[in-house]
Order: sequence, then structure tokens, then C-alpha cells
Amino acid sequence: MGEYTMTINGSAAETLATIDVVNPATGQVFAKAPDCSRAQLDHAMKSAHKAFGSWKDDLALRRDVMYACAAALEDAAEEMGRIATMEQGFPLAMGVMGVRRSAENFRYYADLETPRLVVQDDENALIEVVQVPLGVIAAIKPWNVPIGMAVNTVAPAFRAGCTVVLKPSPFTPLVTLMLGEVLRDVVPAGVLNVISGADPLGQWMTEHPVPRGVSFTGSIATGKKVNVSAASDLKRVLLELGGNDPAIVLDDVDPVDVADVLFGRAFMNAGQICMAVKRVFVPEAMHDAIVAELAVKARALKVGNGLDEGVEMGPLNNKPQFERVSALVAEAVEAGATAVTGGAPLAGEGYFYAPTILTGIAEGTRIVDEEQFGPALPILPYRDLNEAIERANATTFGLGSSVWSNDPERAHAVAEQLEAGTTWINTHAMLGHVQPFVGRKWSGLGAENGQYSISAYTDLHTIYTSRAGATTYVPNSTD
Ligand code: NAD
Repeated sequence: MGEYTMTINGSAAETLATIDVVNPATGQVFAKAPDCSRAQLDHAMKSAHKAFGSWKDDLALRRDVMYACAAALEDAAEEMGRIATMEQGFPLAMGVMGVRRSAENFRYYADLETPRLVVQDDENALIEVVQVPLGVIAAIKPWNVPIGMAVNTVAPAFRAGCTVVLKPSPFTPLVTLMLGEVLRDVVPAGVLNVISGADPLGQWMTEHPVPRGVSFTGSIATGKKVNVSAASDLKRVLLELGGNDPAIVLDDVDPVDVADVLFGRAFMNAGQICMAVKRVFVPEAMHDAIVAELAVKARALKVGNGLDEGVEMGPLNNKPQFERVSALVAEAVEAGATAVTGGAPLAGEGYFYAPTILTGIAEGTRIVDEEQFGPALPILPYRDLNEAIERANATTFGLGSSVWSNDPERAHAVAEQLEAGTTWINTHAMLGHVQPFVGRKWSGLGAENGQYSISAYTDLHTIYTSRAGATTYVPNSTD
């Protein structure tokens, strides 16, 4: 068992208590992670607050540090990717790629220019708007893509001038603790503090008086609690929450081609991606052809331990999630649905669930109405396109959505009617730096990526220089 330590004020913190970390491919405990005490959290917050004083004013240093972070992550990518696979379950290539992409993320934000805005420059006044860092950011992250989600906050927060106290999910603490260890020599003390522990630690962070911002990625249920807790002293919140993304297939496509692509966008990371396809609306006439092709893909998918060669899908990450997906599918089948493939856990150790295509199912069943976050996909036939749009929108989720069509105008017209932060046309779950990532309705608050992330970690400071003389009254539009 390796030793993993928290990073507080640039050094390894003493491990006073531990939590178990389970490998989902075996169901066995394979490591222990520190369980942060309240005093240690206090120390981390105070260190981050102290470090903020000089960090915020030195963009050149921040850029150098971010390039150094990128290089350090690239050097450690293989080892970090392997540990990420052991605690998360996804295939090794995905674990390693996650670390490499995080290195790129540091470089992207290091290079990003944030222009100083001039909103008025005339004989009356010069009015400039400057983005100033919020201060300490409390970053609380989920288990599905641990390192990617962590660096998605840390890199833009650094660029903005903030310091960070970062907490991974108790199910996947190790690769994030490694992030702290790998960056200890390249990040000034206190700028990045990495702590781990059970769920209450997240609440202690949101209640803590030091942070001025909370960057939370996780479930809607917890996101609501975070929002309430952060409201007590008006911390800024960025909430990236769950989704139940619909994909609407129009009647002008080749069903086999579309099914081939859709399958990958639904079953990546065993369906444990916030913006994966989670409901598929298909024209009645195409239903059987699409289901048949999805079933071919599901049967061919190589499921196994992510460390093994050629594995395409790993287990579910943890026992509660495994039990939830098992229950959702069992409930659907009991209510009359057909599991065309899968429909049950795979035999043997670990939290493996067979890739499942569900038909004969509709709204009113939990696996359609809720976020399944697993490898089980309901296929929902429709007769009339407007009805499909209405059904796709009839939810409190509003993360992603997609439209599949060979007619760009028609696809666009449908896209504009979907109530989601993002609508993809002829693909799903594609995300780049320049693209704002937003959850509408209950799927989130605030936007992430590129300049949008910088806005999330900064306040606006308006500097108004009068040119009309100190005593001259100049009426303006808000008087
Ligand atoms: P979760 O809400 O259970 O946990 C997320 C984090 O919150 C964990 O670190 C947990 O320890 C912490 N936490 C638990 N209780 C807390 C509290 N009261 N206060 C503060 N923090 C607390 O979510 P999860 O099961 O780890 O992640 C899966 C969910 O995350 C899915 O719904 C998925 O869609 C969502 N997700 C969203 C995005 C996005 O960008 N929109 C990305 C990835 C995952």
C-alpha cells in the first residue's frame, strides 16, 4: 500500500486518521487516504489566505508556476494515471489521458490573456473594469473524473490570482493527493492545499469563513446544500451538477451510423459522465434498427479491469452507485421494460455492470426521469418531433442535449428549442476550452471554461476617473 499525504502550506501534513480506498475492479480496499481534521482544514485555509497576499499580484510568477505544473504533471502522467485507474475503475488510457489533458489545461490558462476593459473613454470620464481575484477558493470534486475536474478549477483559479483548498471525493482521493505531492516543489507554499476525508469535510469547507468562492462539481442534491451553506456569508458559488441529457434523433439519418456514434457518447466511462447521453428519443419507424445496432455495440464492448490490455469499459466506481444502477434497471424491467442487452451485474468480484439497452420504457420510470450515471440507456420512441422536444425538456435537468440530423437547418431549429446549457448537433459531450460549459435549471449555477472560468473566480472592480472636474455633476443613464 502506498502512502498518500495531504499537502498543507507546501508540506506533507501529518496523517491523524484514515479512510479506506476501494479498487472498484476488485471491491477490495487497496489504499488508505488521510481523513482531514478540523484543525488541519483551518491550517489549510489560513495558509491559502496568507499565500493569496502576494500570489494575486504577480501574474508573471503565476504563469511560470503554471508552466511548471504542466511539466510536472506530464512527467508523472503514467504513474498518476495508473493510480487513477485503480481508484476510479476507468481504462488506463483514460486515466493517463486525464493527467495529460490537465497538463494542457495548465498551459492553456497560463497563456490566456484577460483584457482590461474600457467601457467609457470620453471628455467626461475614463471608466475601466478590472477583474480581481476572489481570494481563497474551496474546490470540492466528484469521483467520476477526479484529476480533470480538480484541474478544471485549479488552473483557471491560479490564472485569476486565487489560491485553492482542494478536496477530492472520498471514493477517489489518491490521484488528487498525488497532484498535491507532485506540485509541492513547483507551487509556492499555501497556494494549493490538497486535503481528503469523508463527506462532512465538504460541508466544513463551505461553512468556513476564509474562502470567498466555492467551486463545486457533483450531484444536484449536494449542490443545493452547498449553495445554502455558502449563502451564510455570501460566498460566490460555481455549481457544476448532474445531467439527464436527451439525444433526439431525427427521421432523416442513417440509423446505423447514428447508433454507432451515440453508443460511445452514452457508455464512455461506463456512463459516469455528467454530460453523457442518458435518454435517446428515436422516431418510431427507426426504433428497431437503432436498438439493433446499439445492441451489437453493447455486446462487443470489452468490459474488465481498467489495468488490463484492451479493456474499453471498467466497473462502476463504488458500491452505492453499483447498487443504484442495479436497482434502477431492475425497477424498469419489473415495470415492463426489456433489457435487450445486459440488465444485470456481471458475475465475479468488483462493481461490474453489463452494458444495458432498455426498450419498452417511458417517462414515469426512474431510469428515464433521473440521472442513472451508469451503463444503462433507455431508448424512447416518438411519433411527432414536437412531442419529443417537449418530453426532452420536461425535466428539472438542463445540462446537455443533442440533435442528430442530416439537415443542418432542421437540426438547428430543434437545437434552439432545447432547454440545456449545451446542445450538440451530430455529436454529444464534446468540450473545448473556448466553449462555455453551463448547467441550466438544476444542472448548475455559473459558467465554466476559458474566460468564463476567469469570471467565475474574479470580482469586477470598476475604476472611474473623472475628466469633468470634481465638482461638475454629469447626469448618466442610471440617474
Ligand atoms: P456528490 O454530490 O455525492 O459528491 C461530490 C463532492 O461533494 C464529494 O467530494 C463529496 O465528498 C462532497 N460532499 C458531500 N456532501 C457534502 C456537503 N454537504 N457539502 C459539501 N460537500 C459535500 O457527487 P458524486 O457522486 O461524487 O458525483 C457524481 C455527480 O457529479 C453526478 O450527478 C454527475 O453528473 C455530477 N458531475 C457533474 C459535472 C459537471 O460539470 N456538471 C461533472 C462531473 C460530475
